[in-house]
Amino acid sequence: MAEIDIYAGLKKFFGFTRFKGLQEEVIKSILDGNNTFVVMPTGGGKSLCYQLPALMQDGTAIIVSPLIALMKNQVDALRALSSEEGVAQVLNSSLNKTEVKRVKSDIASGVTKLLYVAPESLTKEEYVAFLQTQKISFMAIDEAHCISEWGHDFRPEYRNLKSIIQRIGDNIPIIGLTATATPKVQEDILKNLGMPDANTFKASFNRPNLYYEIRPKTKSVDADIIRFVKQNEGKSGIIYCLSRKRVEELAQALQVNGIKAVPYHAGLDGKTRVKHQDMFLMEDVDVVVATIAFGMGIDKPDVRFVIHNDIPKSIESYYQETGRAGRDGGEGHCLAFYSYKDIEKLEKFMSGKPVAEQEIGHALLQEVVGFAETSMSRRKFILHYFGEEFDNETGEGGMMDDNMRFPKKKHEAKEDAALLLDVVSKSNQQYKSKEVVNVLIGKVNALIKSHRTDTQPYFGSGSNHDAAYWMALLRQLLVAGYLKKDIETYGVIHLTDAGKEFIKSPTSFMMTEDHSFKDANDDIIVG
Ligand code: ADP
Repeated sequence: MAEIDIYAGLKKFFGFTRFKGLQEEVIKSILDGNNTFVVMPTGGGKSLCYQLPALMQDGTAIIVSPLIALMKNQVDALRALSSEEGVAQVLNSSLNKTEVKRVKSDIASGVTKLLYVAPESLTKEEYVAFLQTQKISFMAIDEAHCISEWGHDFRPEYRNLKSIIQRIGDNIPIIGLTATATPKVQEDILKNLGMPDANTFKASFNRPNLYYEIRPKTKSVDADIIRFVKQNEGKSGIIYCLSRKRVEELAQALQVNGIKAVPYHAGLDGKTRVKHQDMFLMEDVDVVVATIAFGMGIDKPDVRFVIHNDIPKSIESYYQETGRAGRDGGEGHCLAFYSYKDIEKLEKFMSGKPVAEQEIGHALLQEVVGFAETSMSRRKFILHYFGEEFDNETGEGGMMDDNMRFPKKKHEAKEDAALLLDVVSKSNQQYKSKEVVNVLIGKVNALIKSHRTDTQPYFGSGSNHDAAYWMALLRQLLVAGYLKKDIETYGVIHLTDAGKEFIKSPTSFMMTEDHSFKDANDDIIVG
């Protein structure tokens, strides 16, 4: 019965005939009144997962969303689909008294099916008191990763949601949705929303149509970008830069070279931002040069390339930002420029922040370094990071990154792998990757000294190779599942059962060395 209803609803409200990915299962779970957790990549169709059940049920669904612009887009879209203006409403501090009254009466009369609120508005006593008296169908927490310090966009207000929901009503089903969930973030969300037993739906994060490429960042980065954009003339693209200043400079450099480009960053006034965004959406310009302020909620399906002038501060950010390419399933080239200097710059930004935050930031950055420098399948690396195994050798899209298209030679590293794992074991699984490598090459630091590890027979047992070699091997052993990183300690390396087994009876292990970006110059451009 429910099945027929939701198909009818899908057609009636959205004009679609089929569900995308896991939507149908998610919607059934919500309609059955279950706590539900949805992890889907951007563009996966998360909004419909809560919009349809909200439209089909009695009462009002409360949608918590961090961004006013995002809410506004959704409300406009829902109003366009419905004959009732009040079907979707926003409750926030920008409303005047009359407007608030109108919103309240629409909710009370049952017209409003979706009420969008920012988390800080929900803390307002007046609103909580009102919502307590209303029929609430469920609460949807959009961008739920904002709950976690391990997410790329931590917002402390999100931490209070559970207690507010409890105040609004008993047993209101909670729906958490996110496009970014490493296993750690996922755990945080479920814990914070108090729903360890939520029905969880996780879609694959593989984007088979995206091509990933990392190039060394050199002095000629402007020329490299201009060349790339010219080779892709007439196609839509986004170029991300870390600073506003760089956005302005690069936009100008592109314009001077006859490329239709506009800048976008939070330092521009609202009018200019809207204008530039519209010019991009309407294809009056091909390229937006932007800070990360650009893109949240931008739904341009045919973005053909995303360039990172600066490497992002986490794999999540990289994945989100590159994810804006090829949303229509067509080609999407993701090109990032990388230099270790930029990592040091990002490290510097973090100094002065609380220690835990710095540790997290540092651990996330180390993953970025690993990703940039690795010579294994970039897709496999990303998916492993998101807790997903992906067989790049045979799988669809296996050639879709620089490393797979131009593979480095592999060599048998059975003995070295066994040595590395043995060193992790003998040094009591207490070090992060950098120390493990130091122990192998025989380099002392304060921590190693304090454990007297430097007096052990295995100290320096891998001095026939350099640090970069061991780091590459360590990363590959992580991805292959012989080692794992402990999250609670911000990255201490542990052996898995497979790793312990390997020490006992080593098997073949083919490794490739990482790229060296140490003295990046034009000669070693990859791809
Ligand atoms: P997300 O929030 O996961 O990034 P959206 O909810 O914005 O994704 O959906 C991405 C796009 O997919 C939107 O353009 C939406 O209209 C479209 N979409 C969602 N569900 C369906 C469906 N069942 N059939 C066709 N298109 C859909």
